Amino acid sequence: MCVGAQNGEGQLRYDVIIAGAGFAGLAAAGELRAKRVLLIDRYEIGTHQVSACGTLLGVMQALDAMDCVLQIHPRIVVTGPRGPIVYPLSHPFCTFDFEKFMRKLARRTDADFVLAQVQGVRGDIVQTTRGDYEGKVLVDATGWSAALARSISPHHVNKRVMSFGIETVQRYRGEGLLFWYDPTRYRAKHIQWIFPCGDESRIGVASYLGETKLKDELEQFTRDVGVGTDELHGGYVPYALREPTVENIFVVGDAAGQCFGVTGEGIRGALYFGQAAGRIVRRVADGEIPLATGLIEYRRFVQAHRLYFTLLYWFQKIMTNAPILMAEGIMRFFSLPKLLSKILDLYVAALNPVTLRRAPDCIDARTRP
Ligand SMILES: Cc1cc2nc3c(=O)[nH]c(=O)nc-3n(C[C@H](O)[C@H](O)[C@H](O)COP(=O)(O)OP(=O)(O)OC[C@H]3O[C@@H](n4cnc5c(N)ncnc54)[C@H](O)[C@@H]3O)c2cc1C
Repeated sequence: MCVGAQNGEGQLRYDVIIAGAGFAGLAAAGELRAKRVLLIDRYEIGTHQVSACGTLLGVMQALDAMDCVLQIHPRIVVTGPRGPIVYPLSHPFCTFDFEKFMRKLARRTDADFVLAQVQGVRGDIVQTTRGDYEGKVLVDATGWSAALARSISPHHVNKRVMSFGIETVQRYRGEGLLFWYDPTRYRAKHIQWIFPCGDESRIGVASYLGETKLKDELEQFTRDVGVGTDELHGGYVPYALREPTVENIFVVGDAAGQCFGVTGEGIRGALYFGQAAGRIVRRVADGEIPLATGLIEYRRFVQAHRLYFTLLYWFQKIMTNAPILMAEGIMRFFSLPKLLSKILDLYVAALNPVTLRRAPDCIDARTRP
């Protein structure tokens, strides 16, 4: 069990402080069992879904979380101005239950949890609305806003390389992950989607330009689908890698821009780099390697994956700037079965879910909701 010790100034001192208890934060915490770890989030774990929660089925299999899967998707369908393009998937995707999955990850850590807004960092002190906490090692997993990294380096967050999306959950059944890319019907450089998950679907709109006024367009889209629009969720989606370390801080998940361009797939990256950072941080916390070595090792690990992120970054730039018929032609070209299968193999191997580790359940979990 982990309990922070008091330092000389009455602040609680932890081996590791993780700001943000989303995908990346919980993945890191799962690698840090039996250390004194503090997770800080402004919301209770699993209560604030921002995402459509579509990921490779292999992710759920590797993490032994198949009971969180709501629907398996053996194909993606993209509808352009000249009709649908079907992509049969040799690696299926799935949609999953966010709350159940996050609670499962939380049960696999024994970290302390504090409900507070992270405000910034000073040295090894994390400042929050509930007071200051001191940590030997700090991890920023606060999503796109990168609360710790940005408080040191304001340019860490660059809205010019972020998309923005919103979605609603409606009673609507469907098959496959369904996208629309049709500027003749909706706004240019925008995409619409329906991610079915059993009796319901997550229905959304995103702007690759990061435009945030999307409600009208979502209402138009849901009307076209024949459903309503009530509660909304969403946010920014970074599509350019950011610095993976800022001074003494490990930065993971969206906070480090570890989200793919074009597809906006960020959950796999958050889990993958969250676990990788957690394993390195563990060695630092154990005294096996100095903090500086751990930071360099993590930078190198992220760097080794840079090519995939760069390719998808430029692919997004090309697709969103190409004339629509050319963009549609490219999309049709990639649906050729042999090419699609090769590209999908590479896309999966970029952050291979097989390497994800299932942390054991923790009886004593402080974070257990
Ligand atoms: C509309 C939409 C749909 C998406 N759909 C998909 C999808 O289907 N599949 C996919 O792979 N990706 C999708 N994404 C991207 C995906 O949601 C992110 O890449 C992923 O959530 C990143 O995980 P993370 O842990 O890095 O950050 P987050 O999931 O954002 O978690 C960050 C955590 O930090 C907390 N936090 C933030 N700031 C503070 C603060 N100052 N103090 C305390 N706590 C703080 C938050 O409450 C949150 O719990 C989508 C994104 C959007 C916006």
